[in-house]
Amino acid sequence: MAFSDRVREHFQKELDGIKEAGLYKAERYIKSPQSADIVVEYPEGAEPKEVINMCANNYLGLSSHPDVIKAAHEGLEKRGYGMSSVRFICGTQDIHRELENKLTKFLETEDTILFPSCMDANVGVFEAILTKEDAIISDELNHASIIDGIRLCKAERHIYKHLDMNDLEEKLKQTQNKRLRLIATDGVFSMDGDVAKLDEMTELAEKYDAMILVDDSHATGFLGKHGKGTPELKGVLGKIDIITTTLGKALGGASGGCVSGRKEIVEMCRQRARPYLFSNAMPPVVVAAANKVMDIIMTTTERRDKLERNTKWWREHLVEAGFDVKPGETPIVPIMLYNAKLSQDISNDLYDKGVYAIGFFYPVVPKGQARIRTQISAAHEIHHLEKALKAFVEVGEKYNILGKSKQEIIDMYGL
Ligand SMILES: *Cc1c(COP(=O)(O)O)cnc(C)c1O
Repeated sequence: MAFSDRVREHFQKELDGIKEAGLYKAERYIKSPQSADIVVEYPEGAEPKEVINMCANNYLGLSSHPDVIKAAHEGLEKRGYGMSSVRFICGTQDIHRELENKLTKFLETEDTILFPSCMDANVGVFEAILTKEDAIISDELNHASIIDGIRLCKAERHIYKHLDMNDLEEKLKQTQNKRLRLIATDGVFSMDGDVAKLDEMTELAEKYDAMILVDDSHATGFLGKHGKGTPELKGVLGKIDIITTTLGKALGGASGGCVSGRKEIVEMCRQRARPYLFSNAMPPVVVAAANKVMDIIMTTTERRDKLERNTKWWREHLVEAGFDVKPGETPIVPIMLYNAKLSQDISNDLYDKGVYAIGFFYPVVPKGQARIRTQISAAHEIHHLEKALKAFVEVGEKYNILGKSKQEIIDMYGL
């Protein structure tokens, strides 16, 4: 037996260490479709109950939209279940190309290539276009998938301080001897909901002859007037060389991702990106549904408009109630608690009151930055938000944190 007692003990000790540090992640079983109201079994074996979901990436409420489900059924009927191939062998149907073309049109880029996920897009794109003669300059808080993509690439790696344009400029100066420079950033940073300064970044990129990559997973479909994402919000549509994004959040939430941008970059990915060449094509059922999602968001801004109204309502009422909310304009609304245990206790109390909102703490966020991250959806009606607010206020009163400053909360609960 290769998995000897010694080996088993090794892993058990590792797992015990994770538990002792209070970092063990338990899953909660959801017994309903993804929506504003979900049925959850938690803890395991408990009687399932209906709660308001305040932490899905279902920004546009399209995850269970009847038209999207209908399109998925049609895709399944007409094109079958699986492709049983990667794209370049026999895994490309016309509907894959149709989806790529719709994404290109929507994002106002030159071309688009689908990947099995945005994680795969990020893991593939850097290595496909850069070598050790080049440099990547990356925001320190970029998503794990960007970090992993950069790790797989031989280009020189530079990290600039979060959103710090002076530091970025410094790194651009330092890398002038490299053949190509690529700045990489999240469009919206998922933990704080803050937004990359793409307007200033494109100016710096022009000044220092660098390309820009934006991972817009937390923005595509809803940020900006027509929901085209951070480039639209910041007035730089058409100026971002590479956009990576996911179909697994606002755009129906099933799975899939893409690289969209300059046509030469997309072409290089088709030739070289390893997750594209060596991982299965997106299944027709998902592609067909995603095509419908694109039709919906290109026809009307109704859902992103509603999301914007909901977000405004939620932010204003939380602040009015006295919560310490990270300011911003995105539907990622973090309620700061600083202490990890407090974030867990509050999450559990909210659950008892019928509100599903998860506490985040180290290592998902830096130490001493624990929080409840709420995410607003166009699937929420005001009555959902009112009920959630009531629960938040009751729990806030219980823990005496309403109207309290960061320091006061830390004095009461520690870090
Ligand atoms: C969610 C997310 C991803 C991963 O997307 P998948 O399609 O689920 O792999 C990548 N980057 C960012 C910034 C994300 O938020």
